[in-house]
Amino acid sequence: MDRVILIKYGELTTKKGNRKFFINTLYKNISEKLKNYNVKIYKDISRMYIEFKDSDLDKILKRINSIFGIHEYLVAYKIDSNVESIKNSVLDIISKENFYTFKVETKRSDKNFEFSSIDFSRMIGGLILKNFKNKKVDVHNPELLLNIEIREYYTYIYTNAYKGLGGYPNSTLGKAMLMLSGGIDSPVAGYLTLKRGIKLECIYFEAIPHTSIEARNKVIELSKKLSVYTDKIFLHIIPFTEIQESIYKNIDSEYCITIMRRMMYRITEKLAKRRNCLVICNGESIGQVASQTLTSMSVINNVTNMPIIRPVSCLDKLEIIEIAKKINTYETSILPFEDCCTVFVPKHPVINPKLEKCIEFEKKFDYEDMIDKAIDNVNTIVITENLTDTDYEELL
Ligand code: ATP
Ligand code: MG
Repeated sequence: MDRVILIKYGELTTKKGNRKFFINTLYKNISEKLKNYNVKIYKDISRMYIEFKDSDLDKILKRINSIFGIHEYLVAYKIDSNVESIKNSVLDIISKENFYTFKVETKRSDKNFEFSSIDFSRMIGGLILKNFKNKKVDVHNPELLLNIEIREYYTYIYTNAYKGLGGYPNSTLGKAMLMLSGGIDSPVAGYLTLKRGIKLECIYFEAIPHTSIEARNKVIELSKKLSVYTDKIFLHIIPFTEIQESIYKNIDSEYCITIMRRMMYRITEKLAKRRNCLVICNGESIGQVASQTLTSMSVINNVTNMPIIRPVSCLDKLEIIEIAKKINTYETSILPFEDCCTVFVPKHPVINPKLEKCIEFEKKFDYEDMIDKAIDNVNTIVITENLTDTDYEELL
């Protein structure tokens, strides 16, 4: 019997006007992710069908499990839509399953088929009871649910369906600039943004020699782990040493972090515009550190009008960690290399900074030039989706 992978779109189907665009993008994304396998992919308005080589099945399913926009996926037997073939196949399929109670559910998109869905389910149920001893129908909580989807030419039969990642297909909803540090929060923020169909570019501020090459490698590794869920990612590394040193030379220590973050936002906004990103995304979480009180956030935010998405702003640390573990970034994030925020943390950072004070402090040095220089000297790395099967292995 032939088998196919069947992909269900779920949430996409609620997007009436854009449905075709969403489905076509998902089709492109799936084709791209599976380009190294010998597959044939067909689509209609509610499903995608993937024909595959048996020996590739496990690897293909792992990749499908990392694609946004898929509500559910399953492996179905594909049978000619005639009653005798379906009956024979059901008996064959059922003989390989271990169960006591069962239920048959039929869906029929071919309204010319000679049975109604209910009658067909009943008949197949009767066939199973007649051919296998000690089996019982349980319509409420069956151990085995046998699904039969009858279409014009082919019928699809399957028992298990798996939950997909959900969300919207990558690249359907514009692009964000993610402020990516080596911590736990920002990669999770990036993942959640990708889930909404938004593409990412990443910006990382480094202050060599105060921060190490290992810290940079950590961010590269995190970008690579995020690229599992998209295609290539541009990682922009900003030389931040001069700005950071000027801040610490000119500004009261309790205000250093606030001013430093205002500078980060200014640079991020400029680069985001240059790279056609519509929003900034970061891993700020309300209350986690001094710079994440509402007062701090509003004083820092004051330097830009660009919308800022903070996907983890209302999550507890433990909830963020749970996602970080699921997406396989946690182990990298907890490696002990300091980034530029941690290197210079003052003993008593201000919790309720005043905007006027920030503006006063910022007059003390010529930051505009330094910002332009930092952006001119950006080092951009393209993290290509050059992933092996092992990268997907680690996800599960
Ligand atoms: P994370 O765990 O993501 O590092 P955090 O709890 O350490 O976050 P902060 O250091 O205050 O919090 O940083 C808040 C957010 O600012 C980060 O989540 C990240 O989006 C951004 N950020 C901080 N440091 C950098 C950096 N060196 N480069 C790029 N973005 C940064
Ligand atoms: Mg951090």
